[in-house]
Amino acid sequence: MVRLKTCIASILVDDGRVAGLGLANGERHHAPLVLANGDVVTMLTELLAPEHLPTTYADRVRAIRRGPSAVLVSLGLDTIPAQPARMFIREGGLEFGIGNPSVIDQTLAPPGHAALTILCLLSEEVASTWRRGDIDYRGRKTAFADHLIKVTERTVMAGLSQHIIYSEVASPATFSRYARSINGNIYGAARKSMVSPDQDAGAWVDAGRGRNDNRCWN
Ligand SMILES: Cc1cc2nc3c(=O)[nH]c(=O)nc-3n(C[C@H](O)[C@H](O)[C@H](O)COP(=O)(O)OP(=O)(O)OC[C@H]3O[C@@H](n4cnc5c(N)ncnc54)[C@H](O)[C@@H]3O)c2cc1C
Repeated sequence: MVRLKTCIASILVDDGRVAGLGLANGERHHAPLVLANGDVVTMLTELLAPEHLPTTYADRVRAIRRGPSAVLVSLGLDTIPAQPARMFIREGGLEFGIGNPSVIDQTLAPPGHAALTILCLLSEEVASTWRRGDIDYRGRKTAFADHLIKVTERTVMAGLSQHIIYSEVASPATFSRYARSINGNIYGAARKSMVSPDQDAGAWVDAGRGRNDNRCWN
């Protein structure tokens, strides 16, 4: 059974062994094995009670630096841009990537329309300053997205803003909220995982083929 929209609050331990999960709604589920696929630091230092980890190991886990987060602008367009499927822009200290997959797969959007993404990586330090509770959070998000769209328009896609019929913006705080990752990291750790490779899977595995590199805009 897969339980969606279910928050895990703790990993249960009995006599030094994993014994199951405690849900945020108070339910407890017993199991001999737990596979945790979320943020490694949260798993080891928050879901697991502190007494279950040696202090030096817990300190090393807390010191893990995370890779970047991002601002992601997802757009629906009423045209299919003729530009390549992948472009990278570097202008005025700003670096970001543009994904234009509809140019190679027109089934991604209704006929004559396109899905376009603009992804600007942010270092962990910058990402940590994005907080949903901040009074200017929404304004900051909108301004950042507008700037990315303007630079895209100026550099590679003239007239882009006239073709936008749908827009959604994610910030580091959005990634934190939905992936439950610290500082909204989108690729896991910035350096090698502390768990041996045969026990490790997912975003926290050491970076290798098939991943973006970790260039960030500070
Ligand atoms: C915008 C964006 C662009 C990307 N681009 C690329 C790319 O081009 N190339 C590439 O290789 N990678 C890319 N990535 C990274 C890639 O998507 C991730 O590395 C990968 O999805 C991580 O998979 P995962 O299964 O390890 O973790 P996740 O997909 O994050 O899965 C972990 C799940 O656990 C859940 N969870 C965590 N904690 C709890 C809890 N306490 N209770 C309940 N559920 C919990 C989360 O909600 C989440 O659903 C990108 C990521 C983003 C966000």
